[in-house]
Amino acid sequence: MLDLNNKVAIITGGTRGIGLEIVRIFLQYNAKVILFGSGKETVDKAVKKLENEGKKVDGYYPNLNNYYDINKIVEEIYEKYGHIDILVNNAGISASKKIDDTTSEEFLDIMNLNVNAIFNMIKAVVPYMKKQHSGVILNTSSMVSIYGQPSGVGYPASKFAVNGLTISLARELAEFNIRVNAVAPGITKTDMLESLPNELIEPLIEKIPLKRIGETKDIANAFLFLASDMASYITGVILPVDGAARN
Ligand code: NAD
Repeated sequence: MLDLNNKVAIITGGTRGIGLEIVRIFLQYNAKVILFGSGKETVDKAVKKLENEGKKVDGYYPNLNNYYDINKIVEEIYEKYGHIDILVNNAGISASKKIDDTTSEEFLDIMNLNVNAIFNMIKAVVPYMKKQHSGVILNTSSMVSIYGQPSGVGYPASKFAVNGLTISLARELAEFNIRVNAVAPGITKTDMLESLPNELIEPLIEKIPLKRIGETKDIANAFLFLASDMASYITGVILPVDGAARN
């Protein structure tokens, strides 16, 4: 039976949207979860919300672009739990502006969170996973990592890089029994999408062969499977969860 058996999981961007759903499903399947968010207020709110649902999690808000900040917190987590079994790199931002309207600073902001922060997180947990001779690292990619998108180039560029990190580190870390995979969601119903009018959503649905937008649960289920021992022979994979949507 699928069970995360008290495994210790760190989930970045765990305060809302897809990340919060991953937190919920990991808890439901008996993981110990530590969520990371962007600031005290959102982290406290998410921890409280989960508490009201009867679940206990620790929350932190390191600067994901500061390796030393992350490293200190990861060390603290390891000392408290004695293990770091699963890392989910989910925090991310997107972009939609055309290149003429995008500044190099905006491009860099996306790369910093969507790529460099993932590098920092992985670098911080890998020594512990190597010591344990086991670990699972899961990254959130996107369907745009396969097809690109017609504006907001920083976003697909960052997700192509996420795929590169995933496939390369899967090969590098396999000898330590560390699996590295990514989930590539299609359009998913998060707060942002909920606020869009129907006339914008309907044409999007029309292009999806399964004729619906993904739910956060659809995406979280894929993370759960890849995190579990049922996926013990799967590494270096970018798993699309997109209803066969093609750009
Ligand atoms: P969201 O905006 O609802 O949540 C983003 C999360 O990232 C939040 O928990 C937030 O705290 C965190 N975050 C944002 N900026 C941060 C920062 N500077 N430092 C630390 N944390 C920060 O987004 P979502 O839609 O749930 O997206 C989650 C992931 O899924 C992202 O990587 C996104 O690219 C990817 N994705 C989303 C969709 C979609 O349609 N929603 C589709 C494909 C991929």
